Amino acid sequence: MAVSGPPFSVGAAPVLSGAPLDPAPLDAALAQSAALHGHLCPRQVLGARSALLAGRLLDLPLPRTDKRLLVLAETDGCYADGLSAASGCWLGRRTLRLMDYGRVAATFVDTRTGRAVRVWPQTDLRERVRAARPPEQKRYQAYLDAYRSWPDARLLAAREVTLNFDLDGLLSRHGQREVCSGCGEEIINERWVRRGERVLCPACLSGAYYVWAPPLTEL
Ligand SMILES: [Zn+2]
Ligand SMILES: [Zn+2]
Repeated sequence: MAVSGPPFSVGAAPVLSGAPLDPAPLDAALAQSAALHGHLCPRQVLGARSALLAGRLLDLPLPRTDKRLLVLAETDGCYADGLSAASGCWLGRRTLRLMDYGRVAATFVDTRTGRAVRVWPQTDLRERVRAARPPEQKRYQAYLDAYRSWPDARLLAAREVTLNFDLDGLLSRHGQREVCSGCGEEIINERWVRRGERVLCPACLSGAYYVWAPPLTEL
């Protein structure tokens, strides 16, 4: 893909704002994610804060209704719901993908310019929240309050990155379809591989994540 826009400062760590946070965009995102998630929890707040910071760093207004922003979430769960609510990027819209590293972090890609920024909570954040907590306050509430109110400079870390894979291949073209020569099932989103005359789905090419169970016996 053509990379245009501002010069790509690979690995640069932007200076994050120490200014008080504008609560309005965060509150709007959290209202949505808490409704979907069933409750409000600290990791949702971190997800929403990560997305809002990335939007500012990439100069992209959030939440988005187009497909310009791609979020690569490094964990599922609460954090991912916060990411989606604040960014407008969802698995169902093909604008959020799971890179299941088990890390509370995400990379945000401006697919128009190719710029990408990875955001994560500062590694000593929990210790600092506990240290700043009034003795009568419950830990959970302390995390929630801090994650909602602390400025970016105390909460998050961010760095520009270059992606190690073909972004166009991941995004792929919508509306294309083939039929797998192995299983006969339809393959969408250009996830097929051609082998001579054959067109194969990833499961038939290199093995599926499941094996067929024995036939169900009638009850
Ligand atoms: Zn949760
Ligand atoms: Zn197949």
